[in-house]
Amino acid sequence: MFFYNFRRQNLNEDIFPNGAAWMSGKFIKLSEARIPVLDWGFLRSDATYDVAHVWKGRFFCLDKHIDRFFKSAEKLRMPCLINRNKLKQILAGCVKNAGLENAYVEMIQTRGMSQNFDRDPRKSKPRFIAFAVPFGWILKPEEFEKGLDVAVSNIKRIPHSSIDSTIKNYHWLDLVIGMFDAYDRGHNTALLTDEENNVLEGPGFNIFSVDEIGLGTPDRGVLEGITRQTVIDLAKELNLPFNLKQLSLQKLISSKELFATSTAGGIMPITKINGQSIGTGIPGEITRKLHKIYWDKHTDPTWTSSVEDLLK
Ligand code: PLP
Repeated sequence: MFFYNFRRQNLNEDIFPNGAAWMSGKFIKLSEARIPVLDWGFLRSDATYDVAHVWKGRFFCLDKHIDRFFKSAEKLRMPCLINRNKLKQILAGCVKNAGLENAYVEMIQTRGMSQNFDRDPRKSKPRFIAFAVPFGWILKPEEFEKGLDVAVSNIKRIPHSSIDSTIKNYHWLDLVIGMFDAYDRGHNTALLTDEENNVLEGPGFNIFSVDEIGLGTPDRGVLEGITRQTVIDLAKELNLPFNLKQLSLQKLISSKELFATSTAGGIMPITKINGQSIGTGIPGEITRKLHKIYWDKHTDPTWTSSVEDLLK
C-alpha cells in the first residue's frame, strides 16, 4: 500500500533554480507554482506565453513583449484579464521576490480547467501564471568567438497554416526532436525548415543572414521575435539594408555571416551549419556591431524600464 508522504513535496525543491512566481493573486516560491493535471494548457498545449528579460535591474522592451502576449491570448480567444500596469507589477514583483539582477521572466496564460473535465474549451476559465528565474543563454558569452554550430533538421517546422506562428506557443515537439537530432550529430542546436526547405527558426531563436545585399530574415512561418524586431530597428538606425524574405538552405550556407536572435542571449553568431563554416568561420563584423549596440541599449531608458520603478 502506498501512503502519500507530504514531506516528499519539498524533497525536489533543489532541482529548481532560484526564482519566484505569481499565481492565483499572490507571489509564491517557484517550487510551489503548479497547475492541475486537468488544465488544458498541460493536456493540450492550449496556452500562450511570453518571455521578457531583465538585465542589470532593467526590463528590455517590456511593452513589446506585453503587446505580443495580449495579441497571442486574443488570437487564442482567451484575452488576458490582467491589465498592462498590473501585469508589469506582477512581473517586476517576481524579479524582486527572487532577488535577481539579470532574469528571464515568463508570463503564461493557459485555457485553464473546465468543470468535470467538460470537453468544450469555452467552459474553462483561463489561468495566468508568471515567474522569474536567473537569465539563461542559448550561447554563453564566453562561447561568443566560437559561435553556434547548428544542424539543419530533417524535421519540418509545424506549418503556419496549422498553428499561427506569430502566436507564441508551446507546440515544441518538432523543435525538441530537432534538438535531440542535432545533439546526436554533435551540434549545439537545430534549425528547422518548411516543406520547401526554406529556413525558418530554431528552438527559441530567429535567424538572420548577412550577404552583399544586407541583412535578411525569414518573412513568414516564424515567431516575430522581439529580438528579431530589435535587430530590424537597429539596422534602420545604422543604415544597414535589410529584407524580410525567404531564405533557402543554399543562400544560408553561402552567407557571409549568420546569427541567431533570442531573448535568451540576444544576438548570437552562428559560425557553422551542419559542420560547414560560414564566411570566415568566426563571428563577422556586422554581427559584432549589432551585438555591441544591442547590449548598449540595455541601459538606455527609451529601450528599458527599471524593476524598482515599476514597483512604485
Ligand atoms: N522563435 C521561437 C520559436 C521562439 O520560441 C522564440 C523565443 O522563445 C524566438 C523565435 C525568439 O523570440 P524573442 O526574440 O522574442 O525571444
